Amino acid sequence: MCIFCEIIKGNIPSNVVYEDEQTIAFLDLSQTTKGHTLVVSKKHCTNILDCDEETLQAMTHTVKVVSNLLVEKLGASGVNVLSNANEVAGQTVMHFHIHVIPRYGSEDKFNVQFGENKYDLLEVLKTINE
Ligand code: 5GP
Ligand code: ZN
Repeated sequence: MCIFCEIIKGNIPSNVVYEDEQTIAFLDLSQTTKGHTLVVSKKHCTNILDCDEETLQAMTHTVKVVSNLLVEKLGASGVNVLSNANEVAGQTVMHFHIHVIPRYGSEDKFNVQFGENKYDLLEVLKTINE
């Protein structure tokens, strides 16, 4: 059984930050930075790739609410918002969730780095924009 579905049902305890009809936000076990929170859809979808539009809108709303809460209440200076979709992207729990990671400064243990590459994508763009 899906671990996040169990949390939503209340069968596994969690530290809830925010909840509404379609979403729940609770503290991530790992606490990458202080207040690291997971926004989770109450409806079981695997990730952003298969979730419906209504669920995605509800998730986006909660991400905004939680981001502002973490900045205001914990004194964070900003947030990283991140969602891993499928194993190749690092998803380990296969129930749609979005990480909200409060940022406090360069002493954070969290870091995102965009490596630089060059690809010829003109042909692909043509098919996308057709
Ligand atoms: P993913 O790697 O799928 O993007 O993120 C899954 C996250 O879920 C991880 O950051 C992990 O720490 C968190 N996690 C896994 N199991 C539990 C749990 O039982 N409770 C809570 N609060 N977080 C969990
Ligand atoms: Zn689930």
